[in-house]
Amino acid sequence: MGALTELDRAFVANTYARFPVELIRGEGSKVYDTDGKEYIDMGSGIGVTAFGIADKEWKAAVCAQLDKLQHVSNLYYTEPCARLAALLCEKTGMKKVFFGNSGAEANECAIKVARKYAAEKKGAEYSTIVTLQNSFHGRTLTTLAATGQDHFHKLFQPLTPGFVHTPANDLSALEAVIAREKVAGVLIECVQGEGGVIALDEAFVKGAYELCKENDIVFMVDEVQTGNGRTGAFYSYMHFGVSPDVVTTAKGLGGGLPIGACLMGEKVESVLGAGDHGSTYGGNPIAAAGALSVISRIDDALLAEVKEKSEYIFSALAGKKGIKSVSGKGLMIGIETERPASEIVKECIENGVLPLTAKTKVRLLPALNIPMQDLKKAIDTILAAAAKI
Ligand SMILES: *Cc1c(COP(=O)(O)O)cnc(C)c1O
Repeated sequence: MGALTELDRAFVANTYARFPVELIRGEGSKVYDTDGKEYIDMGSGIGVTAFGIADKEWKAAVCAQLDKLQHVSNLYYTEPCARLAALLCEKTGMKKVFFGNSGAEANECAIKVARKYAAEKKGAEYSTIVTLQNSFHGRTLTTLAATGQDHFHKLFQPLTPGFVHTPANDLSALEAVIAREKVAGVLIECVQGEGGVIALDEAFVKGAYELCKENDIVFMVDEVQTGNGRTGAFYSYMHFGVSPDVVTTAKGLGGGLPIGACLMGEKVESVLGAGDHGSTYGGNPIAAAGALSVISRIDDALLAEVKEKSEYIFSALAGKKGIKSVSGKGLMIGIETERPASEIVKECIENGVLPLTAKTKVRLLPALNIPMQDLKKAIDTILAAAAKI
Protein backbone atom coordinates (compact mmCIF):
# COMPACT_ATOMS: atom_id res chain seq x y z
CA MET A 1 0.00 0.00 0.00
CA GLY A 2 1.41 3.40 -1.01
CA ALA A 3 1.86 6.26 1.46
CA LEU A 4 -0.92 8.23 -0.24
CA THR A 5 -3.35 5.33 0.07
CA GLU A 6 -2.47 4.99 3.74
CA LEU A 7 -3.02 8.69 4.45
CA ASP A 8 -6.31 8.73 2.54
CA ARG A 9 -7.62 5.66 4.33
CA ALA A 10 -6.74 7.18 7.69
CA PHE A 11 -8.37 10.57 7.16
CA VAL A 12 -10.76 10.69 4.20
CA ALA A 13 -14.34 9.58 4.76
CA ASN A 14 -14.72 6.04 3.56
CA THR A 15 -17.49 6.78 1.02
CA TYR A 16 -15.72 5.55 -2.13
CA ALA A 17 -14.63 2.02 -3.05
CA ARG A 18 -11.44 3.40 -4.62
CA PHE A 19 -9.41 1.40 -7.12
CA PRO A 20 -5.82 0.75 -5.91
CA VAL A 21 -4.36 3.54 -8.08
CA GLU A 22 -2.70 6.76 -6.86
CA LEU A 23 -2.86 9.31 -9.67
CA ILE A 24 -0.67 12.39 -9.65
CA ARG A 25 -0.72 13.88 -13.13
CA GLY A 26 -1.98 13.48 -16.65
CA GLU A 27 -2.02 14.80 -20.18
CA GLY A 28 -4.90 14.37 -22.59
CA SER A 29 -6.22 10.83 -22.24
CA LYS A 30 -3.16 9.57 -20.33
CA VAL A 31 -2.78 9.61 -16.57
CA TYR A 32 0.22 8.61 -14.45
CA ASP A 33 0.47 7.09 -10.97
CA THR A 34 3.00 7.69 -8.19
CA ASP A 35 5.29 5.01 -9.68
CA GLY A 36 5.22 6.71 -13.09
CA LYS A 37 3.03 3.98 -14.63
CA GLU A 38 0.95 5.21 -17.58
CA TYR A 39 -2.77 4.51 -17.98
CA ILE A 40 -5.28 5.27 -20.75
CA ASP A 41 -8.12 7.15 -19.07
CA MET A 42 -11.45 5.65 -20.19
CA GLY A 43 -13.51 7.37 -17.48
CA SER A 44 -12.46 11.05 -17.70
CA GLY A 45 -13.36 11.64 -14.06
CA ILE A 46 -16.86 10.18 -14.72
CA GLY A 47 -17.48 12.17 -17.88
CA VAL A 48 -15.96 15.41 -16.56
CA THR A 49 -12.69 16.15 -18.37
CA ALA A 50 -14.38 16.50 -21.76
CA PHE A 51 -11.13 17.46 -23.52
CA GLY A 52 -8.85 15.34 -21.36
CA ILE A 53 -6.42 16.23 -18.60
CA ALA A 54 -4.61 19.59 -18.70
CA ASP A 55 -6.08 20.49 -22.08
CA LYS A 56 -4.16 23.54 -23.34
CA GLU A 57 -7.10 25.74 -24.41
CA TRP A 58 -9.07 24.99 -21.26
CA LYS A 59 -6.03 25.68 -19.08
CA ALA A 60 -5.34 28.97 -20.88
CA ALA A 61 -8.95 30.11 -20.35
CA VAL A 62 -8.88 29.18 -16.66
CA CYS A 63 -5.44 30.75 -16.05
CA ALA A 64 -6.39 33.97 -17.86
CA GLN A 65 -9.42 34.30 -15.59
CA LEU A 66 -7.30 33.54 -12.50
CA ASP A 67 -5.23 36.61 -13.36
CA LYS A 68 -8.38 38.78 -13.39
CA LEU A 69 -10.82 37.71 -10.70
CA GLN A 70 -11.29 34.38 -8.88
CA HIS A 71 -14.54 35.19 -7.10
CA VAL A 72 -16.97 37.93 -6.20
CA SER A 73 -20.44 37.46 -4.83
CA ASN A 74 -23.51 36.97 -6.95
CA LEU A 75 -24.55 40.49 -5.92
CA TYR A 76 -22.40 41.75 -8.83
CA TYR A 77 -22.28 41.07 -12.58
CA THR A 78 -19.30 39.07 -13.90
CA GLU A 79 -18.28 38.32 -17.46
CA PRO A 80 -17.69 34.53 -17.68
CA CYS A 81 -21.04 33.74 -16.01
CA ALA A 82 -23.05 36.05 -18.30
CA ARG A 83 -21.26 34.88 -21.45
CA LEU A 84 -21.63 31.19 -20.52
CA ALA A 85 -25.37 31.60 -19.90
CA ALA A 86 -25.78 33.38 -23.25
CA LEU A 87 -23.84 30.63 -25.08
CA LEU A 88 -25.85 27.81 -23.44
CA CYS A 89 -29.10 29.57 -24.42
CA GLU A 90 -27.84 30.16 -27.96
CA LYS A 91 -26.98 26.46 -28.38
CA THR A 92 -30.25 25.13 -26.92
CA GLY A 93 -32.95 27.75 -27.40
CA MET A 94 -33.45 27.82 -23.62
CA LYS A 95 -34.10 31.23 -22.07
CA LYS A 96 -32.45 31.46 -18.64
CA VAL A 97 -29.70 29.67 -16.72
CA PHE A 98 -29.15 29.19 -12.98
CA PHE A 99 -25.61 28.12 -12.01
CA GLY A 100 -24.66 25.91 -9.07
CA ASN A 101 -21.71 23.63 -8.38
CA SER A 102 -22.84 20.09 -9.12
CA GLY A 103 -25.36 17.86 -10.81
CA ALA A 104 -27.33 17.38 -7.63
CA GLU A 105 -27.55 21.14 -7.16
CA ALA A 106 -28.72 21.60 -10.75
CA ASN A 107 -31.48 19.03 -10.14
CA GLU A 108 -32.46 20.69 -6.83
CA CYS A 109 -33.00 23.89 -8.80
CA ALA A 110 -35.08 22.06 -11.44
CA ILE A 111 -37.32 20.56 -8.76
CA LYS A 112 -37.84 23.99 -7.17
CA VAL A 113 -38.70 25.46 -10.58
CA ALA A 114 -41.29 22.73 -11.28
CA ARG A 115 -42.86 23.05 -7.83
CA LYS A 116 -43.07 26.85 -7.93
CA TYR A 117 -44.48 26.85 -11.48
CA ALA A 118 -47.19 24.34 -10.48
CA ALA A 119 -47.93 26.05 -7.15
CA GLU A 120 -48.55 29.39 -8.85
CA LYS A 121 -50.41 27.96 -11.85
CA LYS A 122 -52.47 25.12 -10.33
CA GLY A 123 -52.10 25.30 -6.54
CA ALA A 124 -49.55 24.19 -3.93
CA GLU A 125 -50.97 20.64 -3.81
CA TYR A 126 -49.53 20.07 -7.32
CA SER A 127 -46.12 19.16 -5.94
CA THR A 128 -45.40 15.58 -7.08
CA ILE A 129 -42.27 15.01 -9.15
CA VAL A 130 -42.28 11.87 -11.28
CA THR A 131 -38.96 10.16 -12.07
CA LEU A 132 -38.08 6.74 -13.47
CA GLN A 133 -37.18 3.50 -11.78
CA ASN A 134 -33.44 2.80 -12.08
CA SER A 135 -32.70 6.53 -12.47
CA PHE A 136 -29.93 8.49 -10.76
CA HIS A 137 -30.28 12.17 -9.93
CA GLY A 138 -27.80 12.86 -7.11
CA ARG A 139 -26.89 12.39 -3.45
CA THR A 140 -28.63 15.20 -1.58
CA LEU A 141 -31.72 14.10 0.35
CA THR A 142 -34.04 15.55 -2.32
CA THR A 143 -32.16 14.21 -5.34
CA LEU A 144 -31.88 10.83 -3.55
CA ALA A 145 -35.67 10.91 -3.25
CA ALA A 146 -35.74 11.56 -7.01
CA THR A 147 -33.36 8.65 -7.64
CA GLY A 148 -35.42 5.55 -8.45
CA GLN A 149 -33.13 2.97 -6.84
CA ASP A 150 -34.18 1.79 -3.37
CA HIS A 151 -30.74 0.64 -2.25
CA PHE A 152 -29.61 4.30 -2.06
CA HIS A 153 -32.55 5.17 0.23
CA LYS A 154 -32.63 2.64 3.03
CA LEU A 155 -30.85 4.20 5.98
CA PHE A 156 -31.47 7.87 5.13
CA GLN A 157 -35.18 8.17 5.81
CA PRO A 158 -37.13 10.34 5.80
CA LEU A 159 -36.24 11.65 2.35
CA THR A 160 -37.94 14.70 0.82
CA PRO A 161 -41.56 13.68 0.17
CA GLY A 162 -43.43 14.09 -3.10
CA PHE A 163 -41.54 11.76 -5.47
CA VAL A 164 -43.07 8.90 -7.46
CA HIS A 165 -41.00 6.45 -9.54
CA THR A 166 -42.52 4.86 -12.61
CA PRO A 167 -41.01 2.18 -14.93
CA ALA A 168 -38.92 3.40 -17.87
CA ASN A 169 -40.45 2.96 -21.34
CA ASP A 170 -43.97 2.37 -19.93
CA LEU A 171 -46.07 5.26 -21.18
CA SER A 172 -49.36 3.96 -19.81
CA ALA A 173 -47.82 3.68 -16.32
CA LEU A 174 -46.73 7.33 -16.59
CA GLU A 175 -50.20 8.28 -17.82
CA ALA A 176 -51.74 6.52 -14.81
CA VAL A 177 -49.45 8.39 -12.38
CA ILE A 178 -50.38 11.70 -13.99
CA ALA A 179 -54.09 10.84 -13.69
CA ARG A 180 -53.75 9.72 -10.06
CA GLU A 181 -51.30 12.26 -8.55
CA LYS A 182 -51.09 16.03 -8.57
CA VAL A 183 -47.96 16.24 -10.69
CA ALA A 184 -45.73 19.33 -10.95
CA GLY A 185 -42.94 17.86 -13.07
CA VAL A 186 -41.44 14.83 -14.78
CA LEU A 187 -37.64 14.35 -14.66
CA ILE A 188 -35.85 11.79 -16.87
CA GLU A 189 -32.37 10.84 -18.10
CA CYS A 190 -32.64 10.05 -21.84
CA VAL A 191 -29.77 7.61 -21.33
CA GLN A 192 -29.71 6.22 -17.78
CA GLY A 193 -26.05 6.41 -16.75
CA GLU A 194 -25.52 5.04 -13.25
CA GLY A 195 -28.44 2.68 -13.90
CA GLY A 196 -26.36 0.77 -16.47
CA VAL A 197 -25.98 3.03 -19.56
CA ILE A 198 -29.42 2.34 -20.99
CA ALA A 199 -30.98 4.63 -23.62
CA LEU A 200 -34.73 5.15 -23.26
CA ASP A 201 -37.04 4.28 -26.18
CA GLU A 202 -37.66 7.25 -28.45
CA ALA A 203 -41.42 6.61 -28.38
CA PHE A 204 -41.42 6.81 -24.58
CA VAL A 205 -39.41 10.05 -24.42
CA LYS A 206 -41.64 11.66 -27.06
CA GLY A 207 -44.78 10.31 -25.37
CA ALA A 208 -43.69 11.60 -21.95
CA TYR A 209 -42.99 15.00 -23.49
CA GLU A 210 -46.44 15.10 -25.14
CA LEU A 211 -48.17 14.02 -21.92
CA CYS A 212 -46.42 16.82 -20.03
CA LYS A 213 -47.39 19.35 -22.68
CA GLU A 214 -51.06 18.28 -22.65
CA ASN A 215 -51.23 18.43 -18.85
CA ASP A 216 -49.14 21.59 -18.35
CA ILE A 217 -46.51 19.60 -16.42
CA VAL A 218 -42.87 20.76 -16.38
CA PHE A 219 -40.85 18.34 -18.57
CA MET A 220 -37.28 18.11 -17.27
CA VAL A 221 -34.27 16.28 -18.66
CA ASP A 222 -31.26 15.42 -16.49
CA GLU A 223 -28.25 15.90 -18.79
CA VAL A 224 -25.69 15.83 -15.98
CA GLN A 225 -23.90 12.82 -17.50
CA THR A 226 -25.33 12.78 -21.05
CA GLY A 227 -24.83 16.48 -21.75
CA ASN A 228 -22.22 18.66 -23.38
CA GLY A 229 -21.45 16.45 -26.38
CA ARG A 230 -21.15 13.15 -24.52
CA THR A 231 -23.74 11.23 -26.59
CA GLY A 232 -22.87 12.78 -29.98
CA ALA A 233 -25.50 15.53 -29.70
CA PHE A 234 -25.00 18.76 -27.75
CA TYR A 235 -27.61 17.45 -25.28
CA SER A 236 -28.99 13.90 -25.49
CA TYR A 237 -32.64 15.04 -25.68
CA MET A 238 -31.76 16.39 -29.15
CA HIS A 239 -31.62 12.77 -30.40
CA PHE A 240 -35.24 12.30 -29.33
CA GLY A 241 -36.99 15.25 -30.98
CA VAL A 242 -38.31 16.84 -27.77
CA SER A 243 -38.04 20.37 -26.31
CA PRO A 244 -37.70 20.18 -22.52
CA ASP A 245 -38.90 22.97 -20.23
CA VAL A 246 -35.88 22.41 -17.99
CA VAL A 247 -32.44 20.91 -18.71
CA THR A 248 -29.93 20.20 -15.96
CA THR A 249 -26.25 19.60 -16.54
CA ALA A 250 -22.88 19.44 -14.75
CA LYS A 251 -20.06 16.84 -15.08
CA GLY A 252 -18.52 17.62 -18.54
CA LEU A 253 -19.72 21.24 -18.46
CA GLY A 254 -16.74 22.58 -16.48
CA GLY A 255 -14.11 20.32 -18.03
CA GLY A 256 -12.82 19.58 -14.51
CA LEU A 257 -13.99 22.48 -12.38
CA PRO A 258 -17.14 22.20 -10.25
CA ILE A 259 -20.11 23.79 -12.01
CA GLY A 260 -23.70 22.78 -12.60
CA ALA A 261 -26.44 24.50 -14.56
CA CYS A 262 -30.22 24.47 -14.66
CA LEU A 263 -31.45 25.73 -18.05
CA MET A 264 -35.01 27.04 -18.17
CA GLY A 265 -37.16 27.24 -21.30
CA GLU A 266 -39.89 29.67 -22.27
CA LYS A 267 -42.61 28.13 -20.11
CA VAL A 268 -40.65 28.52 -16.84
CA GLU A 269 -38.13 31.27 -17.60
CA SER A 270 -39.78 33.74 -15.20
CA VAL A 271 -40.60 31.30 -12.39
CA LEU A 272 -37.58 32.10 -10.23
CA GLY A 273 -37.40 35.63 -8.86
CA ALA A 274 -34.95 37.46 -6.59
CA GLY A 275 -34.45 35.50 -3.37
CA ASP A 276 -36.05 32.26 -4.65
CA HIS A 277 -32.76 30.46 -5.09
CA GLY A 278 -29.03 31.05 -4.78
CA SER A 279 -25.57 29.58 -4.40
CA THR A 280 -22.48 31.39 -3.11
CA TYR A 281 -20.16 29.82 -5.68
CA GLY A 282 -22.76 29.51 -8.44
CA GLY A 283 -21.40 30.87 -11.74
CA ASN A 284 -17.97 31.37 -10.16
CA PRO A 285 -15.71 33.18 -12.68
CA ILE A 286 -13.01 30.47 -12.83
CA ALA A 287 -15.43 27.57 -13.25
CA ALA A 288 -17.49 29.57 -15.76
CA ALA A 289 -14.36 30.48 -17.78
CA GLY A 290 -13.45 26.77 -17.94
CA ALA A 291 -17.01 25.90 -19.01
CA LEU A 292 -17.02 28.63 -21.63
CA SER A 293 -13.89 27.10 -23.16
CA VAL A 294 -15.52 23.62 -23.18
CA ILE A 295 -18.93 24.68 -24.52
CA SER A 296 -17.56 26.95 -27.24
CA ARG A 297 -15.65 23.96 -28.70
CA ILE A 298 -18.54 21.50 -28.87
CA ASP A 299 -19.34 22.00 -32.57
CA ASP A 300 -20.57 19.78 -35.40
CA ALA A 301 -17.05 18.57 -36.19
CA LEU A 302 -16.49 17.40 -32.61
CA LEU A 303 -19.93 15.76 -32.44
CA ALA A 304 -19.18 13.92 -35.71
CA GLU A 305 -15.90 12.72 -34.16
CA VAL A 306 -17.79 11.46 -31.08
CA LYS A 307 -20.18 9.51 -33.32
CA GLU A 308 -17.32 8.02 -35.36
CA LYS A 309 -15.49 6.85 -32.25
CA SER A 310 -18.75 5.47 -30.88
CA GLU A 311 -19.31 3.45 -34.06
CA TYR A 312 -15.76 2.14 -33.81
CA ILE A 313 -16.34 0.99 -30.20
CA PHE A 314 -19.66 -0.70 -30.99
CA SER A 315 -18.26 -2.52 -34.03
CA ALA A 316 -15.01 -3.51 -32.29
CA LEU A 317 -16.88 -5.06 -29.34
CA ALA A 318 -20.06 -6.50 -30.86
CA GLY A 319 -20.13 -10.29 -31.03
CA LYS A 320 -16.60 -10.72 -29.65
CA LYS A 321 -15.70 -13.50 -27.23
CA GLY A 322 -16.93 -12.79 -23.70
CA ILE A 323 -18.98 -9.72 -24.74
CA LYS A 324 -22.72 -10.21 -24.18
CA SER A 325 -24.01 -6.80 -25.27
CA VAL A 326 -23.00 -3.17 -25.81
CA SER A 327 -25.36 -0.29 -24.91
CA GLY A 328 -25.38 3.49 -24.75
CA LYS A 329 -24.94 6.42 -27.10
CA GLY A 330 -21.92 8.34 -28.34
CA LEU A 331 -19.00 8.05 -25.93
CA MET A 332 -21.21 6.83 -23.09
CA ILE A 333 -20.95 3.06 -23.37
CA GLY A 334 -22.01 0.10 -21.22
CA ILE A 335 -20.55 -3.34 -21.88
CA GLU A 336 -22.14 -6.50 -20.55
CA THR A 337 -19.45 -9.15 -20.20
CA GLU A 338 -19.53 -12.83 -19.30
CA ARG A 339 -16.86 -12.30 -16.64
CA PRO A 340 -17.86 -9.98 -13.76
CA ALA A 341 -17.18 -6.32 -14.67
CA SER A 342 -15.04 -5.88 -11.54
CA GLU A 343 -12.64 -8.62 -12.75
CA ILE A 344 -12.36 -7.01 -16.19
CA VAL A 345 -11.63 -3.60 -14.66
CA LYS A 346 -9.03 -5.09 -12.29
CA GLU A 347 -7.22 -6.73 -15.19
CA CYS A 348 -7.45 -3.56 -17.32
CA ILE A 349 -5.88 -1.53 -14.51
CA GLU A 350 -2.98 -4.00 -14.35
CA ASN A 351 -2.57 -3.53 -18.10
CA GLY A 352 -2.67 0.29 -18.02
CA VAL A 353 -6.31 1.07 -18.86
CA LEU A 354 -8.84 2.72 -16.52
CA PRO A 355 -12.48 1.84 -17.34
CA LEU A 356 -15.45 2.42 -15.01
CA THR A 357 -18.37 0.21 -14.05
CA ALA A 358 -22.12 0.88 -13.92
CA LYS A 359 -24.11 -1.74 -12.03
CA THR A 360 -22.98 -5.07 -13.60
CA LYS A 361 -21.46 -3.48 -16.71
CA VAL A 362 -18.06 -2.15 -17.71
CA ARG A 363 -18.66 1.54 -18.49
CA LEU A 364 -16.64 3.78 -20.81
CA LEU A 365 -16.75 7.59 -20.71
CA PRO A 366 -13.51 8.64 -22.41
CA ALA A 367 -12.60 12.23 -23.23
CA LEU A 368 -14.50 13.41 -26.31
CA ASN A 369 -11.19 14.06 -28.09
CA ILE A 370 -9.44 10.82 -27.07
CA PRO A 371 -6.83 10.04 -29.76
CA MET A 372 -7.91 7.08 -31.91
CA GLN A 373 -4.73 5.16 -31.12
CA ASP A 374 -5.36 5.38 -27.35
CA LEU A 375 -8.97 4.34 -27.85
CA LYS A 376 -7.95 1.32 -29.96
CA LYS A 377 -5.38 0.23 -27.40
CA ALA A 378 -7.93 0.50 -24.58
CA ILE A 379 -10.57 -1.46 -26.50
CA ASP A 380 -8.02 -4.19 -27.33
CA THR A 381 -7.12 -4.44 -23.63
CA ILE A 382 -10.81 -4.74 -22.66
CA LEU A 383 -11.39 -7.37 -25.38
CA ALA A 384 -8.42 -9.42 -24.16
CA ALA A 385 -9.72 -9.34 -20.57
CA ALA A 386 -13.30 -10.16 -21.64
CA ALA A 387 -12.14 -13.12 -23.77
CA LYS A 388 -10.59 -14.96 -20.79
CA ILE A 389 -13.57 -17.15 -20.01
C1 LIG B 1 -23.56 12.27 -11.64
C2 LIG B 1 -25.00 12.52 -11.83
C3 LIG B 1 -25.72 13.37 -10.97
C4 LIG B 1 -25.10 13.99 -9.74
O1 LIG B 1 -24.09 14.89 -10.06
P1 LIG B 1 -23.10 15.43 -8.90
O2 LIG B 1 -22.28 16.45 -9.60
O3 LIG B 1 -22.32 14.26 -8.41
O4 LIG B 1 -23.99 16.01 -7.85
C5 LIG B 1 -27.04 13.63 -11.27
N1 LIG B 1 -27.64 13.08 -12.35
C6 LIG B 1 -26.99 12.25 -13.19
C7 LIG B 1 -27.70 11.70 -14.37
C8 LIG B 1 -25.65 11.93 -12.96
O5 LIG B 1 -25.00 11.09 -13.77
